[in-house]
Amino acid sequence: MWQGIGVSAGRGVGRAVPIMTETPLPPDWSQPLSEQERLDGAVERLRALLSTVGPYREAPEAMAVLRAQLAVLNDPSLRAAIAGALADGATAEGAIEAAFAPFCAALSGNGGTEVAALRDSLLQLLQAPSAHSIPDHINGAVLVLKTVTPVLLCRLQGQRPAAVVSENGSYACHSAILLRALGVPAVFGVEDIAGAVQEGELLLVDGDSGTVTVQPNAQDSAFLQPLPCSGVDTEKISSAGGSNVRVNGTVGSVTEAQSVLQNGGDGIGLFRTELLFMAQERPPTEAAQLAVYAALAALMQDRETVIRTLDCGGDKPIGCLPPEKEDNPLLGRRGIRYCLDYPALFKTQLRALLRAAVYGNVKLLLPMVTTPEEVQAVRGLLKTCAAELEQEEQPYRTVPLGVMIETPSAALTADLLAREADFFSVGTNDLTGYVMAADRGNRAVSGWLDPFRPAVLRAVEMTLDSAKKTGIPVGVCGEAAADEAWLSLLAEKGVASVSVPPHAIAKMRRTLPPTRI
Ligand code: PEP
Ligand code: MG
Repeated sequence: MWQGIGVSAGRGVGRAVPIMTETPLPPDWSQPLSEQERLDGAVERLRALLSTVGPYREAPEAMAVLRAQLAVLNDPSLRAAIAGALADGATAEGAIEAAFAPFCAALSGNGGTEVAALRDSLLQLLQAPSAHSIPDHINGAVLVLKTVTPVLLCRLQGQRPAAVVSENGSYACHSAILLRALGVPAVFGVEDIAGAVQEGELLLVDGDSGTVTVQPNAQDSAFLQPLPCSGVDTEKISSAGGSNVRVNGTVGSVTEAQSVLQNGGDGIGLFRTELLFMAQERPPTEAAQLAVYAALAALMQDRETVIRTLDCGGDKPIGCLPPEKEDNPLLGRRGIRYCLDYPALFKTQLRALLRAAVYGNVKLLLPMVTTPEEVQAVRGLLKTCAAELEQEEQPYRTVPLGVMIETPSAALTADLLAREADFFSVGTNDLTGYVMAADRGNRAVSGWLDPFRPAVLRAVEMTLDSAKKTGIPVGVCGEAAADEAWLSLLAEKGVASVSVPPHAIAKMRRTLPPTRI
């Protein structure tokens, strides 16, 4: 465990994304720009970044930080010093160094550090556009850096990390103020962590105690409290908005789950676990998966938390899994087919899920099911895992098992699957693709990818009818779940819940039609 200073409260769990921005790259002399043009371009880019106030608009302290940074950048004496150095033949980098030096020296302590950070950001922006750039996979990840600059936080562009860890910085520094405004947990002053943490390692960041735990497990995550069995209300119905359809969120990280709660969601209707496996060198261990699932369950408490087992293959290739050479991956060994063929891999996930179920109201969902035998096979594996955990004296809880209806076979045999499953979730994305024989990723056939097509609606109706006869609830996930017009066509048939992106929850609450289940 690493110790630093908690500068922004709360806890975040996610994969580490180290960003090494310390050393500016050498200038790119292949650019045919004059030094003046390079400098003007960098200043403009920096000004534009600092002016993108977006998430900070409602936070006066954060706005003051951005204004202070802009004021330094626009300071006439600084600009004159840069222009003078350039006129004397300095490079753009040299001119920035020379002009900022007296400013940094004159401002002791925090002020000097902030101005130096601004200088470094400007130097970075002089480089090729890729330098100092932010990876595009930091949603729900933990950023680990030597120094977090306000400019770097302005470059997040809508991405939201689970937490931020930095070697430098203090509670009062500008970046800490911005992170508090964003509500992102952060720990600063963690010596030597940037080079020590591996990309993809799971980190638990506690912005209250100032600690960073590498590869945490549920036991050492003190905030995880087992939920008493009696507290679980598995069919909690929300009546907000006049509809008895539960409005759940579709997410891929614990951070996103937090925004489901912030947006008033009833629970999690789809947690895509494959995101934990992507960009990894090895599949995550049981302990690593447990930490994420348990954090999710503990966050959601007695709200239903539907976690989908690994949905790999097809349009979701996963580099760390044994390679599949298939001519037609969309009709290949996807989702549950792959998992059943690799029982050791699958059991690792099932064990983590059973153990995480102790902390909340967890339900399992199986992707790409086509036959009842697949569900029976999973039940068999779950029994084996439960027996193992029993013997090892590991706490676990049995969970409801749901089936995704996203293949024509599943819809056509929904009556048979309903005998095996505790609930259905209609995956309208794949169901539409497979029913209409149109590849989700092929724009040329996007006209066929329309969930309003009668064939798709009939497939969903068949599913709802079969489920009703057997008495199991049906949810809808996939894009169509957020389309009120589409849902209104099925309202009479009894959709128990929808799962939509967190930002769409409020809209669905307002517009969902009353449903008779
Ligand atoms: C679906 O297919 O509708 C679905 C929700 O799953 P995914 O988009 O992850 O394949
Ligand atoms: Mg799918």
